[in-house]
Amino acid sequence: MFDEYYRLRDSIPSTVKLVAVTKFKPLELVSSFYAETGHKVLGENRAQEFLTKVEALPKDIEWHFIGHLQTNKVKLILPHAHLIHGVDSARLLREIDHSAGLLGLKSNVLLQFHIAEESTKFGFSKEELQKEIDSGLLKDLRHVNICGVMGMASFVDDERQVRSEFRHLKNIFDNLKSAYFSDSVHFKELSMGMSGDYQLAVEEGSTIIRIGTLLFGERA
Ligand SMILES: *Cc1c(COP(=O)(O)O)cnc(C)c1O
Repeated sequence: MFDEYYRLRDSIPSTVKLVAVTKFKPLELVSSFYAETGHKVLGENRAQEFLTKVEALPKDIEWHFIGHLQTNKVKLILPHAHLIHGVDSARLLREIDHSAGLLGLKSNVLLQFHIAEESTKFGFSKEELQKEIDSGLLKDLRHVNICGVMGMASFVDDERQVRSEFRHLKNIFDNLKSAYFSDSVHFKELSMGMSGDYQLAVEEGSTIIRIGTLLFGERA
């Protein structure tokens, strides 16, 4: 039933992590995916659905929160999220740090960058993050591990454009790594690539791809 999963898994390097994006898909489907394939890395993008699925599904699943996270949902999500992909503001990052401290956790996060031309997508620009770093953002953090960066390319057919957006994100990753995280054992993830563009993303250095439609079909 999940032929596409095996095809996908066999077509990407074993060093690239596959987050199977289960958003909008019913529990029964996710449950049989887990049972049949044994794949344990799943992603959701909305807090309520994330929590419902965490609660209902086996405890050995590694859950990724891939969506826009509202600050008032942070403390609910943190205990269950192996990695939060979409940290797109200094305010959210500080809130995660604060809540993780209260909960006695260390939270793993990725900084989300706006790399697409569409203006609707969340994320820092390079300049915005630099401004925050210059005003001390990184020094104040105690309870988060910044594990790398995440981004979404434009939804266009033009391969050259998509590739150049991924390249731009890789460039941001490399620059941050050498400027601020050269001693960090955590800063190593480049989360980019979805159903329509993961091949390009992998070619451009992605370490985590987030795939929904290709595995589970179109969402309603
Ligand atoms: C839905 C979603 C995905 C998966 O998209 P597909 O095109 O269905 O593979 C990946 N990343 C994020 C942030 C998403 O919200």
